Amino acid sequence: MENLENQNPEQQEDKSHKTQKIKSNIRDLEKELKSIQDSCSHKEYRIANCPKENSEFSLRKVCKECEKEIGYPSQSEIDNWAKS
Ligand SMILES: [Zn+2]
Repeated sequence: MENLENQNPEQQEDKSHKTQKIKSNIRDLEKELKSIQDSCSHKEYRIANCPKENSEFSLRKVCKECEKEIGYPSQSEIDNWAKS
């Protein structure tokens, strides 16, 4: 009889190692993203739907280059967005 639980202890270890690696990569990438957003002058923006926890619909102005939320669109911008 094979013992299924102990079938692949190495793979288990590998998975945890991979998880740590991915998490550390995410941290690095977030840091990189933040530095890009901090150095960006947000010259152009688009209107995007950025849903938050308590609402499904939340329009924001988002920089075209760095994707940072830079503010709220005006009513006319919302109207144009809704039309498109
Ligand atoms: Zn930007």
